[in-house]
Amino acid sequence: MTIDLVTRRTELVELRERMLNAAADLVADDVGGEINSPAGDQHIADHATDLVDRELDHSLGENAENVVAEIDAALARIDEGTYGVCAKCGASIPEERLDAVPYAILCLDDKRLQEHG
Ligand SMILES: [Zn+2]
Repeated sequence: MTIDLVTRRTELVELRERMLNAAADLVADDVGGEINSPAGDQHIADHATDLVDRELDHSLGENAENVVAEIDAALARIDEGTYGVCAKCGASIPEERLDAVPYAILCLDDKRLQEHG
């Protein structure tokens, strides 16, 4: 075992906290936006831009939720003793990948398959 699980766990918990804060900030921004832009006082173009902004915020918020779910899965795998092993094919996940994405539970090949297939 070359992975320092204690360090990884700390990393994951901190990252989880950051993602939750990022998601909360987006929600706070939404509320502020509604207070600061009275309905009926907007050109259609402005309104469209506002809608696009909201879409982006929404997808960012969803991303944060997905990442938090992945972090939870990774933390559970630390508890199970399967952290660092691909959840799909059972291959070891290279440590460079875990350095870049500490919540990775799939090897790069399976992650690509999941994203594109
Ligand atoms: Zn795999």
